[in-house]
Amino acid sequence: MNNTELLQRSLAAVWHPCTQMKQHVNQDAAALPLIPIARGEGAWLYDFDGNRYLDAISSWWVNLFGHANPRINAALRAQLDELEHVILAGFTHRPVVELSERLSALTGHALGHCFFASDGASATEIALKMSFHSWRNRGFETKQQFLCLEGSYHGETVGALAVTDVAIFKDAYAPLVRSAATVPTPDARLARDGETAVDVARRAASALEQHLDRHHETIAALIVEPLIQCASGMAMYDPEYLRLARELCSRYNVHLICDEIAVGCGRTGTFFAHEQAGIRPDFLCLSKGISGGYLPLSIVLTTDKVYQAFYDDATARGFLHSHSYTGNALACRAALATLDIFAEDKVIAGNKLRAEKLAAALAPLGARTDVVHLRQKGMIAAFDVRTDDPAFSRKFYRAALAREALVRPIGTTVYVMPPYIVSDDEIAHLGQALAGALDTTLAA
Ligand SMILES: *Cc1c(COP(=O)(O)O)cnc(C)c1O
Repeated sequence: MNNTELLQRSLAAVWHPCTQMKQHVNQDAAALPLIPIARGEGAWLYDFDGNRYLDAISSWWVNLFGHANPRINAALRAQLDELEHVILAGFTHRPVVELSERLSALTGHALGHCFFASDGASATEIALKMSFHSWRNRGFETKQQFLCLEGSYHGETVGALAVTDVAIFKDAYAPLVRSAATVPTPDARLARDGETAVDVARRAASALEQHLDRHHETIAALIVEPLIQCASGMAMYDPEYLRLARELCSRYNVHLICDEIAVGCGRTGTFFAHEQAGIRPDFLCLSKGISGGYLPLSIVLTTDKVYQAFYDDATARGFLHSHSYTGNALACRAALATLDIFAEDKVIAGNKLRAEKLAAALAPLGARTDVVHLRQKGMIAAFDVRTDDPAFSRKFYRAALAREALVRPIGTTVYVMPPYIVSDDEIAHLGQALAGALDTTLAA
């Protein structure tokens, strides 16, 4: 196998996600090259010709401890010899039990019931269905609507698109979708003159209060991405919003769903992002990093109160949702190995230092006149670029690849979200690659 052969066969047979395939075939300056990967090791991806790329976006925000991590590999090899998978309806196994217990403990046992699926969008839909159904079981028949934030992203299946507010993913399918109402985002970039991030959060919360005051009887749940709306461009906001949203949801009898699919698992500096607001949601969605970036796995955690609303003699009052691979033993074992690494290596504490180094490496970019809103929370750093070029994102992506870095801007927002094993040298490499790619892209 070589690069050229794999590329040609991929273009003929594989329909790549989130991609206009013609851009892979085009040869102009704004074309999108398809990159063949032969193997991964640590933070690096290697092709067949010896080229390498620093995986600065953790392969779409999933990888936490590097590619081909020896400890996760060993756990998976051991699990392969015991049990690869078993039906979870009517059966149970050690990895799924241990993972449920450990995740529950990480929420201080506030969210003591874990429901399993395989991808993030399914977790979103499970949380929405559970919320609606639990209200119905409790006699609140009118609670059939959901509420999300402007610019929210909760997945792209038809049900999850209902609470996703990103035009590029939603517009084409709008006729298929029963859209939720949106309330203003607390995005700190919206600060008016003299306003702090806390002020923006309070302003957005007051709009939420007005909406809930008018519509709470028809609303089952508010769904949020705690602290960072990642997919719409790394919009960061103050934890004050979560604190106020929690208070309002409790006051108006509306569930709070925290979608931590992207921001959970230590990304923002705490294991769960919502911890920074000192709150607990009614539902917590996890996926992406939870399996260390190894296998598809998602989990919805919820409270005893929600669980009890389904606990009954009548089958139809149960939560009858199911996926074939729910609670897959290999995926759960990868997640357990991932949690082991967090504990053994004191990852949350180590990431504090790592995040500071990342901040230092990116600081010179913040001083550029073509860069605005340099921002960071834990292991996610982002900035916006002043440019009118509609092909900026693709051009920057190419320029970064040429500097051995995998960085995929969202529109004109450049961000990095590296695995938690990046070394000082790799962070320095990243800072230089971003600066160089910016020069090339804006000069072109
Ligand atoms: C990625 C993501 C999802 C969807 O997860 P998939 O596994 O891609 O379906 C949902 N919510 C958030 C916040 C995400 O970042």
